[in-house]
Amino acid sequence: MSGYRFEVDWARCTGHLVCAELVPELITRDDWGYPVIADGPIPGHLLAHARRAKGGCPALALHLARTRGRHRPAGA
Ligand code: SF4
Repeated sequence: MSGYRFEVDWARCTGHLVCAELVPELITRDDWGYPVIADGPIPGHLLAHARRAKGGCPALALHLARTRGRHRPAGA
């Protein structure tokens, strides 16, 4: 089973946290204001929100990458 997971380009990420506002189920913030991504593949019902978060990142630092193998979705 495959799905998607977030990848952050840390060289580009500037901590706007637009991503966390758009998909708080999957992205929270750390003590320094940078995103913390939930483990595992993105659950199907959150994929549209995940795509909006990717598109909303002003630094183009958030990406969706294919996963491979069997993983339990984040939050499942
Ligand atoms: S919106 Fe983009 S730049 Fe801002 S914290 Fe999220 S990944 Fe980083």
